[in-house]
Amino acid sequence: MSDDDLIELRREIHRHPEPAGQERRTAALVADALRAAGLEVRTGVGGHGVVAVLDAGDGPAIGYRADMDAVAVPGGAEHLCGHDVHTAIGVGVARALAREQSSGRTVFFFQPAEETCEGARAMIADGALDAVPPQEVYAVHCAPLPTGTFAVAPGFGHPGQDIFRIEGLSPEEARRFEALVEGLSTVTPPTTPEGMARLAADMRVPGGPLATFVHAQAHREPDAVQGWVRAWPDSRYDDIRSLLRAQAGDRVRFVGRHPASVNSPEHARAGARHLNAMLLNASYPFNGEDFGLFLERAPGAMFFFGVGEEGTPHAPDFAADERAVGLGVEAVTGFLRTRGDRHGVEP
Ligand SMILES: [Zn+2]
Repeated sequence: MSDDDLIELRREIHRHPEPAGQERRTAALVADALRAAGLEVRTGVGGHGVVAVLDAGDGPAIGYRADMDAVAVPGGAEHLCGHDVHTAIGVGVARALAREQSSGRTVFFFQPAEETCEGARAMIADGALDAVPPQEVYAVHCAPLPTGTFAVAPGFGHPGQDIFRIEGLSPEEARRFEALVEGLSTVTPPTTPEGMARLAADMRVPGGPLATFVHAQAHREPDAVQGWVRAWPDSRYDDIRSLLRAQAGDRVRFVGRHPASVNSPEHARAGARHLNAMLLNASYPFNGEDFGLFLERAPGAMFFFGVGEEGTPHAPDFAADERAVGLGVEAVTGFLRTRGDRHGVEP
């Protein structure tokens, strides 16, 4: 498949964005392309998930995950997180490795429902990792970096999330809990290019201002408050739960918890060397990522991948530079080859 074909695939997915849980058409495009490349394909894994195995003989099984869903917006969905780019890169990598007949096995996970943090759990529960358990697993995510460049945070990644609901409140108490929750935040999302640049600089400082953080949001109803907390590291949630219990007693319920997504230091550094990636020393506080559930099962890393300055995920003007697709395929294929072929593993 040429770069042009992959860009066409990306545009096709982009024109037909499907929100979490509804990735039927996207999954069918992916499955067709992978079957045509000669991979063994299983569809309908944990919803519309696709698992594809490239078996080129003995060697470690290396996993690669791409997410497929679009961001839900009023009246529909849009690819505001670049998952269309991730999917096109994943298909391109599978085709490139299939053409090479390199040694070892590669298993590809095309995941639905990342935006709701449900897809990884559903795929794993449906046995995605069982037939060919990967010994390592990798992913990329679009980021506002120069097109085709990488960044990675060894030992960090994306925060998890703790979702809660406090009920049976008077309007006055609801106001008080809203203020209490929002007061827990130690960070605020940047709203200007300067703010974004400062955040990016802070993320590079070892033990810097983002080494630990809390980002909390509350939504007030007349007699209740619903909200969530993202924190780093995960151990901070215990203190926050204790605080809310101390204040709200049994009126607070914790209704959902996602673990942090933590890159293995060793595997992230191996990737950074191969991909010439910028090293980060903190997690990005304002997005979650259920790739962490794959990382709980096999070490690996998610790399931030530059799609140009307009590539801030979830910004309303998110626009990926399409040249990233071909560059991503080339770089990721080369990296996975070094991981799959033991002779090529860097020291
Ligand atoms: Zn995303």
